[in-house]
Amino acid sequence: MKATRRPKAARPVARKGKGTALAEYERKRDFTRTPEPRGSTRKSGPALAYVIQKHEASRLHFDLRLEVDGVMKSWAVPRGPSTDPTVKRLAVQVEDHPIGYNTFEGTIPEGEYGGGTVMIWDVGTWAWAGDATPVADAIRAALVDGVLEFVLHGKRLKGRWTLVRTRKVGRAQQWLLIKQRDRYARAGSDITGRYLTSAVSRRTMLRIAEER
Ligand code: MN
Repeated sequence: MKATRRPKAARPVARKGKGTALAEYERKRDFTRTPEPRGSTRKSGPALAYVIQKHEASRLHFDLRLEVDGVMKSWAVPRGPSTDPTVKRLAVQVEDHPIGYNTFEGTIPEGEYGGGTVMIWDVGTWAWAGDATPVADAIRAALVDGVLEFVLHGKRLKGRWTLVRTRKVGRAQQWLLIKQRDRYARAGSDITGRYLTSAVSRRTMLRIAEER
């Protein structure tokens, strides 16, 4: 999502991570000012990590992140996920985030990139839902092809989902996030309205903002 940025000359250039998968993540942030973690690539655990962060930036959105090759592939979903299979939610792909970002909950100072409060809205693991193997190659190919079918094992979101790339607008890749029909699908449900607290700390956005 577009966020207010200070003039480029005023921010120190982050050399760490330059030329790596997280170079863009590092370049966009001033780690002397933001409480967000520095970038480093690593494996999260035996299963692939999944997180959704609710982010009250210049515009409220939900950041969906899926672990791929030691980083969190990330999509900003303005209206958040829907468990109704007839609803397609716009998901704009943003820069890869470090695995360490999955435990970040707090407030990015105003004026910094993405300034605003971040809540861990859902957390868990995800799995490739296709038949092709090896899995790591199949996931990479799916991201290139623009159709990723996956299963979420979150506290709040479960079951089969699909991300489908629709178009490229400038440098931004637009995808649609769609719930597939299974026992976790709920017609007409408003899951983001139903869960208003953190999946890990139970805090509301207001409390997270107050406890900076
Ligand atoms: Mn965000």
